[in-house]
Amino acid sequence: MPTTTGRPATEIADFIGGFVAAEGTFVARPWDGQFAFAVALGATDRESVEMLHRFFRCGRVTWRERRQAHFDDEVTFVVRKLRDLVEVVVPFMDEHLHGSYKRQQYLAWRAELLEYWEHGVRRRRPCTVEGCRVIQRAKGLCRHHYYERFGR
Ligand SMILES: [Zn+2]
Repeated sequence: MPTTTGRPATEIADFIGGFVAAEGTFVARPWDGQFAFAVALGATDRESVEMLHRFFRCGRVTWRERRQAHFDDEVTFVVRKLRDLVEVVVPFMDEHLHGSYKRQQYLAWRAELLEYWEHGVRRRRPCTVEGCRVIQRAKGLCRHHYYERFGR
């Protein structure tokens, strides 16, 4: 991936949109209140990952060591905070993500994210076990603590 230094902002945005169309992942697990936008690349593409982090000005960069000797280490740019997803990632993708297949994935993800953002956060309460912040499923408990107490 070439450097973006010196390019006009709209050109950079469209370039990043194309990059996301190829490499981006959208994760939706509304039952756990978990949403994410991520781009995972090999360590040799670390510059691209850092560039995404600088561009979006939210999320973070994580490293994962290779699981087998012949695999590259993995570097991931990931945004998990709901407010950042809704206020930064969604407006960007609406305008700059054009790849038809990835855009379909994005639109399905966006529908779940916005539904959760508008209704789920307020309607669904966190688990009543102290220190647990996962959303309740039944009897005031998250799925994990429900199964722990009542079995599967
Ligand atoms: Zn819990």
